[in-house]
Amino acid sequence: MTALTSATAAAQLVASVRDVYATGRTTKREWRVEQLNALRQMVTDNEELIEKALFSDLGKSATEAQLTEIGIVLGDIDYALKNLSDWLKPQKVSVPLAAQPAKAFVVSEPLGVALIIAPWNYPMQLLLAPLVGALAAGNAVVLKPSELAPATSEVMATLIPVYLDSEAVVVVEGAAQETGWLLEQNYDHIFYTGNGRVGRIVAAAAAKNLTPLTLELGGKSPIYIDDTVDLEAAAERIAWAKYLNAGQTCVAPDYILATAEVQHELEAHLVAAIAGLYGADPMNSPDYGRIVNDHHFARVSAYLADGRVVADGQPHAASRYIPPTVLADVRRDAPVMQEEIFGPILPMVTVTDLEDAIAFINSRPKPLALYAFTENTLVRRVFTERTSSGALAFNVAILHLSVPGLPFGGVGESGMGAYRGKRSFDTFSHEKAILAKPLKPETLALIFPPFTERKKKL
Ligand code: NAD
Repeated sequence: MTALTSATAAAQLVASVRDVYATGRTTKREWRVEQLNALRQMVTDNEELIEKALFSDLGKSATEAQLTEIGIVLGDIDYALKNLSDWLKPQKVSVPLAAQPAKAFVVSEPLGVALIIAPWNYPMQLLLAPLVGALAAGNAVVLKPSELAPATSEVMATLIPVYLDSEAVVVVEGAAQETGWLLEQNYDHIFYTGNGRVGRIVAAAAAKNLTPLTLELGGKSPIYIDDTVDLEAAAERIAWAKYLNAGQTCVAPDYILATAEVQHELEAHLVAAIAGLYGADPMNSPDYGRIVNDHHFARVSAYLADGRVVADGQPHAASRYIPPTVLADVRRDAPVMQEEIFGPILPMVTVTDLEDAIAFINSRPKPLALYAFTENTLVRRVFTERTSSGALAFNVAILHLSVPGLPFGGVGESGMGAYRGKRSFDTFSHEKAILAKPLKPETLALIFPPFTERKKKL
């Protein structure tokens, strides 16, 4: 772990990482494979330690930690290892007749030194999944875990230098000040996951050096649900996606749009679904998480007054427990409908019909994810063609993350750029154009001056 004490220290640190990159060792295929295998080893050797840290930070159960953090990172590593040779192959492209004879290729080269800044809600996954892409692409990396998940941050800062090339991959722990110092330095890519307010700070810092940037942000991800679906089955999927990690998931359904009739019927199914997942008293469920800190506990608890409570229990400040809650009859201008909730409260807002729902969604910033529960293919088409979001999923929420071929990223205020699967590799690579043309025969003579009358006619 590297502790930063000043911007000067950050400058020295990044310079040392850049020196390592300049030696060329990270660009070698063997190094990339070795680092990915080492990362895999690090995770598998220390699963229990990581699970304990996630439990300490977020009350995350070991099973949830496996499913949503450890398993995803291991899956990404395996996917990268399996496909790296293909990704590294030069891609031949055709050469137009006028430029022939010649050979043209696209080659992916590393960008250089990447800065990865992670948030607290999936503090291991969101630090290491981008790292997989950065390593596969042959970059040196500066990693900044979130200070709001201190146990996970410490575990990462302790383990990474032991398992990985500690000169080329460095972890800097710290909060806004340390991140600010890091952001004053020059990188070849910045990959930030977190809220849009800090996203703007990161983008401004990147702009100073014209540094390419990925912003994985959040926002309010809506669910639209109509009467063509089995509401009981839908309620179960919605409750699972919403209350996973106590609602602290960037692609968690934020609110539900439905007609009054559908809403009325859905209420009881959601209550039953919550009981099915977490028992009669979720506070005693080993599978239900906690709010990350007191600040977020107070922020999320305040939303409990914003509608008619359908499924609830008592929040418990000392353990930062907020029960899985459904709020019905929520006004469109209620506070809970303004900012991303990022907690286990699910407001339901009444719409008159599909058009009303589409207009509502389109009047707000483009979401990271949009979910439509409907069997009606025309309605699905309306969502596909007339809304814009990072991802659109039908009859399921969150699961799109498990498909490596799908880009994971936002649009508009929910972010820019995407990763997972090959896109993680592409994000941290430059696609270099390569053209090679023999000097003889000189086919270009035709386009060289002087532009004689004969040439003009060609
Ligand atoms: P956070 O508070 O941990 O902040 C993220 C990172 O920014 C941290 O590493 C933190 O140290 C740093 N930071 C904080 N203040 C800073 C400042 N003033 N200057 C520079 N750096 C600073 O996490 P968060 O932002 O609360 O994360 C939650 C948000 O992230 C939600 O909006 C959520 O939707 C979004 N999110 C998005 C994704 C995605 O993949 N798109 C995933 C998870 C979370």
